[in-house]
Amino acid sequence: MPILTLKKNKTPLGIYVHVPFCRSRCAYCDFCTQTSREDKLIDGYLDAVCDHIKEAGSLAPNYKVDTIYFGGGTPSFLGADALATILTTIRRSFDVDNNAEITFEANPDSVSDQLLRRMKAEGFNRVSLGIQSDNDDMLEKLNRPHNYSQAVHAYQRIRKAGFRNVSVDLIYGLPDQNNRQWLETLEHVLELMPEHISLYGLEVHPGTPIEEYERMGRIPDDDTFADMYLNAVKFLESRGFRQYEISNFSRKGLYSRHNMKYWTGGEYLGFGPSAASDFAGSRYKLVSDLRAYINGIKVGGEVMEEIEAIPLRERASEYIMTRLRTTAGLNRQEYEKQFLLPFDPLEEILELNRSYNLTTQNPNGNWRLTPRGFMVSTKIIADLQMAQEDSRPITRY
Ligand code: SF4
Repeated sequence: MPILTLKKNKTPLGIYVHVPFCRSRCAYCDFCTQTSREDKLIDGYLDAVCDHIKEAGSLAPNYKVDTIYFGGGTPSFLGADALATILTTIRRSFDVDNNAEITFEANPDSVSDQLLRRMKAEGFNRVSLGIQSDNDDMLEKLNRPHNYSQAVHAYQRIRKAGFRNVSVDLIYGLPDQNNRQWLETLEHVLELMPEHISLYGLEVHPGTPIEEYERMGRIPDDDTFADMYLNAVKFLESRGFRQYEISNFSRKGLYSRHNMKYWTGGEYLGFGPSAASDFAGSRYKLVSDLRAYINGIKVGGEVMEEIEAIPLRERASEYIMTRLRTTAGLNRQEYEKQFLLPFDPLEEILELNRSYNLTTQNPNGNWRLTPRGFMVSTKIIADLQMAQEDSRPITRY
């Protein structure tokens, strides 16, 4: 029957909702977020984001939403009613798969039993909890609004509410942190038995309070950073986690389906200030200013900060960059078929890097970076992209 055929052929789509509200600002944060809880602003945001979702839904009849991700900011801080309203709007505006992965980010200080029960009942099935460190002094330096014991309680509440897919975020390279402390943090957090762990090296953005520690020379140096990362990869693999991306590790098969879209060229639509989209061959970024976003949606003004149609050559360049973030790596046939460009010039560089233990091949022949290669990925990717730019298209495949 034609209707069934059409449904089967729908293109998978991810939806990202940016929630730009937090209880307080972390010392390292340069994200788009507000720390005031003005009701008018929250209502304005909610109205705008729901209107935006309804409008976009009508443009995507041939898509099936298989992942939804509420990030921020702190989605749990926005509260259950608002998150449920947005999710309901998505369901009414898009064709959402029954098995869609639906994630919300939470911080330990804004996780209540009531919120979690409601989220579970609404159909959220994955939680990403920002723990960052097991050390209370460190959490204070980072201006996190919680201590480790609150984080553990929040995690236990999440489990009690019935969530079976939980990710935790941790940061390494913190002020005065050494390798031993970092491994202890991993050890403690693994006692919680999460399905997924994201590890981020501390980035010091200009103008953020954490810069003060850099000025005092209290941020670990590059060698310590590299050791912390490589030790963490080894440690997590020894505990049954599989690295599937530079910063992400999961138990078998429980990788973030939503985030994989970013690294494998999948399509996604973003809503809320600063959210990005890659949809129907073009990439968009929405304005970062919350009030400008609300006004733009409500009065019909411009909310796009950047729009670009991506030519095939550029897509090839992105393919190299995003795929090499993952352990799935680069596939010769896929690359040549998709971009009509030869893989041989890339393979020469990959082979060369193999001799330095920076690249390797998976059993299926795909080329990937080793953990050591991830540390210098920028240079290897730049070399590969240059080779790609210089290559001539394949005229016969
Ligand atoms: S919770 Fe995240 S978005 Fe909010 S202030 Fe901290 S780092 Fe920034």
